[in-house]
Amino acid sequence: NGAARTAGDRVIRLSDVTFGYTAAPVVEDVSLDIHDGEYVAVVGPNGSGKSTLMQIMLGLLRPDDGEARLFGEPAHSFDDGQRIGYVSQHASAAKEMPITVREVVRMGRFPHVGFGRLGAEDDRIVDEALATVGMADFADRRITKLSGGQRQRAFIARALAGEADLLVLDEPTVGVDAESVEAFYDLLESLNDDGITVLLIEHDLGAVTDHAERVICLNREVYFDGPTAEFVDSDALARAFGTAVGFLGGSEKR
Ligand code: ADP
Repeated sequence: NGAARTAGDRVIRLSDVTFGYTAAPVVEDVSLDIHDGEYVAVVGPNGSGKSTLMQIMLGLLRPDDGEARLFGEPAHSFDDGQRIGYVSQHASAAKEMPITVREVVRMGRFPHVGFGRLGAEDDRIVDEALATVGMADFADRRITKLSGGQRQRAFIARALAGEADLLVLDEPTVGVDAESVEAFYDLLESLNDDGITVLLIEHDLGAVTDHAERVICLNREVYFDGPTAEFVDSDALARAFGTAVGFLGGSEKR
């Protein structure tokens, strides 16, 4: 990106954010900063406000109280969307679209050069993005013919081609076969090593503890925000879930 940035710049800042769809808040008094280059996982039980919080961070919902900033601007007026790569839980938006992986990834270039104006340099960037996510061999396959994990990779490649510096993923491995999940998280980790900020909403605690550097544990309010190793040793999870929850599937642990 052309924008000058230094390591540690703030990507997201929430200050005392409260939001409710009705009078009852589902996100209450949340303050946090996410910095350039971090790998952060947001965890919490079903209905704990994770998706809502993410939509506030991205400016799709406006807080009732407090403030959300994205790349230093009020989140709701941020309009440099190609800086953000979003991978949803159901990467099925393209399920019915008869287009190939390469065409999807080329879309990432449109905000930079305009629709239908891609040149040789864009093709090079697209090829590089496909290679980075391990999808070069599938470039000409229809997106409808991919496995769940491959489809997620195609969407990440589109974000890379768009030069996104923030990847936001909402439970990205739901519906992805078990063998592909680990490789998918390895890919996220290597992208993060290359400098991309990763914000992961996740119910798979194993994936979180194995990969994320920092955990934000949410249940309407923030129960924990800090290094993953400290989270594992804390009682935040049990408190947030209101029950004894083991990390490795056992209910007798922790
Ligand atoms: P999570 O992502 O942790 O499962 P959500 O942010 O989706 O949690 O939901 C938090 C709460 O807000 C839940 O009680 C949910 O039912 C409610 N909620 C989510 N989306 C809407 C909506 N569009 N309208 C009304 N209530 C909603």
